[in-house]
Amino acid sequence: MSIVSKPSGSGIEAPKRLDLRAAIGGGIFEYAPAPESVRPEIADKYGLFIGGEFIEPTSIGSSSSHFATINPATEDTLAMVGEASAADVDRAVQAARDALPAWAGLSGKDRGKYMYRIARRMQERARELAVLETLDGGKPIKESRDVDVPLAAAHFFYHAGWADKLRYALPGRDPQPVGVCGQIIPWNFPLMMLSWKIAPALACGNTVVLKPAETTSLTALRFAQICQEVGLPKGVVNIVTGAGETGKAIVEHDGIDKIAFTGSTAVGKAIAQAVASTKKKLTLELGGKSANIIFEDASLDQAIEGIIEGIYFNQGHVCCAGSRLFVQESILDRVIDKLSDRMSTLRVGDPMDKNTDVGAINSKEQLGTIERFLATGEDEGATKHDVCQSTLPEKGYWCKPCFYTGVQPSHTIAREEIFGPVLAVLSFRTPGEAISRANNSPYGLAAGVWTDKGSKIFDVAKKLDAGIIWLNTYNKFDPTSPFGGYKESGFGREGGRHGLMAYCK
Ligand code: NAD
Repeated sequence: MSIVSKPSGSGIEAPKRLDLRAAIGGGIFEYAPAPESVRPEIADKYGLFIGGEFIEPTSIGSSSSHFATINPATEDTLAMVGEASAADVDRAVQAARDALPAWAGLSGKDRGKYMYRIARRMQERARELAVLETLDGGKPIKESRDVDVPLAAAHFFYHAGWADKLRYALPGRDPQPVGVCGQIIPWNFPLMMLSWKIAPALACGNTVVLKPAETTSLTALRFAQICQEVGLPKGVVNIVTGAGETGKAIVEHDGIDKIAFTGSTAVGKAIAQAVASTKKKLTLELGGKSANIIFEDASLDQAIEGIIEGIYFNQGHVCCAGSRLFVQESILDRVIDKLSDRMSTLRVGDPMDKNTDVGAINSKEQLGTIERFLATGEDEGATKHDVCQSTLPEKGYWCKPCFYTGVQPSHTIAREEIFGPVLAVLSFRTPGEAISRANNSPYGLAAGVWTDKGSKIFDVAKKLDAGIIWLNTYNKFDPTSPFGGYKESGFGREGGRHGLMAYCK
C-alpha cells in the first residue's frame, strides 16, 4: 500500500505517493516512549491463599517450596511464589468444603452483594491490576488496561446480577450448587480467566480452589487480597499457586465435585481421562486454530485491522487467535500488500509503554516453541514475510510478528496451534471451499467472516464448526455471550446463561 501526501499549492500538482514502509524508516511515525508510571507494590515472597489467609506452602522433600515469577520483558525476578503440594491442595479443598454450606445457604441477593463488592474493588484497583498483569505476563499495558481488567470486572458485575435470579436464568428448574470446584487456568489472560471461572461459580453458590498458571500468578494473588478486603467469607475462594503437579493434585482430589480447566488440548485430554471414572463434572476450554475468512466483497481495510487484532495483539497468545487466514483468490495480492503495510507499523517492545502493540512472549519455553514452528514453516516450503520494522530489545523474550504465504493445508503451521504472533495465509475460490478448508481442523474454537453480504454471512457462519463466530469483527468478548469450543477445543460454555449451567445441578 502507499499513502497519498497532501497536494501543495493550487492542487493541480499530481499527488505524490509515499511508501509507508520507507516513511516509517524515515521516522515519520516514531512516538516518544509513554511508559506507564504506576508501580504497584510486589512482595518478595507470596504464600498460598487458603481459608481466607495467606499461608506458607509445605515443603516437598528437600526442594524449595517457592519458585520465581519472571518479568518476560526483562528476565528479572518479580517475586517468589508458593508451590502448593498435594497436602496444600488438600488443605484448600477442606477449606472450600467447610465454607460450602454457609455460602450455598446464603440468599442469592447476599452472594450478589459480595460479588458486586469484588467487581467494584477490581475497578478501583484496575490500574494496579493491569500493571501487574503486564509485568508478569508480558502483554502490552494497553491490552491489560483496556481489555483484560475491565472484562474481568464486568464478569463479576454480570454474574452478581444472576446470583438472585438463577431460576429465571434456568427456567423450570431449581438450580443447586455443584459443590467444591477445582479450577485451573492458563497464562494468556490470567485475571480474565480467573473471573470467567470464579464469578459464575460463586453466583451459583459453589466454593472454589483455583490454580493460576505458574508464570502468571500475581494478579490471582492480588485478587485474593481483594477477597479479604471485601470480607468474602473465609474459604469461599482459595488460590493455590504451582505448576502441573499442583494442577494434577486438584484434578485427582476426591473432595472436588467439578473441574473447570482452560489450557492446552494435550493437558485437557489427560484431565478428561483422569476424571472419566469419577463423579466429577468437567468443562474444558482448550486450544484452537481459528480461521479468519475474507471474501472479495469485504471492506478490506476493516478486515485487515481485524486480522491484525485477531492474531498479533497479545503476541498471538489468544486461544481463539485467527491464526489461519483464508483469502478469496481474486483479492489475495491486495490483502497481502495491505497486511504487509499494516504489519510494518506494529510496534513490538516494552509492554509497559502505552504505544506498544506487541509485547513480550510469556516465557522462554513458549518462545522456544514458537521458534520451532517458525523453522518448520520454512522447512516445509512456506514463505515467511518478516515485514515488522521494530528493533527488538536485547533482554527478554521476543518474537516479531510475521506471516507465511505459500502455505498448504497439510503444513504444520496450518494445522497446529502455535500460540504466537504467526499467521498462515491460505486461499480459496468459492464459499464452499472456504468452509471446507476452515473446518478441516481438529479444533473448533472460533472463526471470523468478512463480507459485505448479509446472506453470505449467515450462510457461512451456520456451516462453520466453531463455538464463536465473529462477523466483520474479531476477538470481541462480552460476559453475556457464551464462549467455548467444539471438537478438540473442548466442551462446555463460559459466560452468558449457558455458562451458569456448568456450575449448577
Ligand atoms: P497448559 O495446558 O500447559 O497449562 C494450563 C494450566 O494447566 C496451567 O495452570 C498449568 O500449570 C496446568 N497444568 C499443566 N499440566 C497439568 C496437569 N497434568 N494437570 C492439571 N493441570 C495442569 O496451557 P498453557 O500453555 O498455560 O496455555 C495455553 C493453552 O491454553 C493454549 O492451548 C490455548 O489455546 C489454551 N487456552 C484456551 C482458552 C479457551 O477458552 N478455549 C483460553 C485460554 C487459553
